[in-house]
Amino acid sequence: MTTGAEFRKLCNTMDEVTRLLADLVSIPSVNPCGREVSGDEYLETRVADYVEGYLREIGVDVERQQVHPGRDNVVGRVVGRDPSRHVLLEAHMDTMPGDNMEFDAFSPFVKDGRLYGRGSCDTKGSLAAMLCAVKQVTEGGNPLCSITVLAAVDEEYQFTGVMHFVRNEDLTRPGGITEAVVGEPTAREIIIAHKGCVRWILRTQGTAAHSSNPSNGVNAIYRMSRVVQALDQFNREELPVRYAPHSLLGGATLSVGTIAGGQVVNVVPDHCEIQVDRRLLPGEDPEAAMEEVAHYLLCRPEIEFDLEHVTPFVRDVAMETSPCSAIVRRFERACEKVYGEATVNGVPFGTDASKIAAKGIPAVVFGPGDIRLAHTSHEYVPLDEVRAAVEILVRAISE
Ligand SMILES: [Zn+2]
Repeated sequence: MTTGAEFRKLCNTMDEVTRLLADLVSIPSVNPCGREVSGDEYLETRVADYVEGYLREIGVDVERQQVHPGRDNVVGRVVGRDPSRHVLLEAHMDTMPGDNMEFDAFSPFVKDGRLYGRGSCDTKGSLAAMLCAVKQVTEGGNPLCSITVLAAVDEEYQFTGVMHFVRNEDLTRPGGITEAVVGEPTAREIIIAHKGCVRWILRTQGTAAHSSNPSNGVNAIYRMSRVVQALDQFNREELPVRYAPHSLLGGATLSVGTIAGGQVVNVVPDHCEIQVDRRLLPGEDPEAAMEEVAHYLLCRPEIEFDLEHVTPFVRDVAMETSPCSAIVRRFERACEKVYGEATVNGVPFGTDASKIAAKGIPAVVFGPGDIRLAHTSHEYVPLDEVRAAVEILVRAISE
């Protein structure tokens, strides 16, 4: 039963987390995602300043790590009483652009218990919940376990923020990070597995000729059509045989996402290229998965011409944390207390968590909101889930 005093304390927290989230959403931090764009709404600088200020205000030591010019990770450190436990709370600060939204993306408002705005769900709701949770557990002095808070840049494009952090953090030192929570909208579920990904460009060459006499040339698009058919077959018939489906993630998959070739209609095209997206199951190596596809195509009799597989531009391993690990158990108990139930699951999309888990740190993905609302024209996060996330984080850290 919640006592009167506890309830009043909870109310204060609710107000604070809503205010904090509204502040974060109102500071644009759009990821350029590789485009040559500039302007106030781009990059994470101003939101990083805000996060740094908040952490300093609540008495947390803060450092900034420059990942790219104008793009700093913010890292807060709190020393705990139990030297054997050290939790990393990570959430990214970047968002998708706001120009496709049905309302002003960076003027957050609350309606029917939901806070609307770009980044509210993905993933400033999680960031706000983590900051509030840190405030709560440090209010009465040193918390039980040590805490590192990482507000990272560039999750939406190339994961360079979290990769910079794991490269520079001494993860083997005594008292170093022992477990991690990555904030993404998981709709009340505790996520312990997600797929990885490798993406690359594949090219065919041909010989240009006047299209009035196509037999004088070699059509690179026709060549590519055979490749695309073979890849479709590889996805439908080969992958399910080669890789048993994962209990939480389903099967390994391959999808051709783009195709481009030729210059003008009256020239036999001498080049064509596609972009391939291969989703990986836990344990798969991105390079090996690409090699496997290259080898499969090499063995197909109808593909008797050379193919060029360009070095992958995305390589991301999958994540899988044991359901028996301490961090998962703690989250289960916290969710049961707050929601009356706990669901452990996997998701197909990638997160920063795989880069942390790849270093041997058990990680869960958890945060308020629903991923189906991320990147949409009406992005919002339910405030009761944000408040619940604060309490769940506090319980999981303090247990
Ligand atoms: Zn996200």
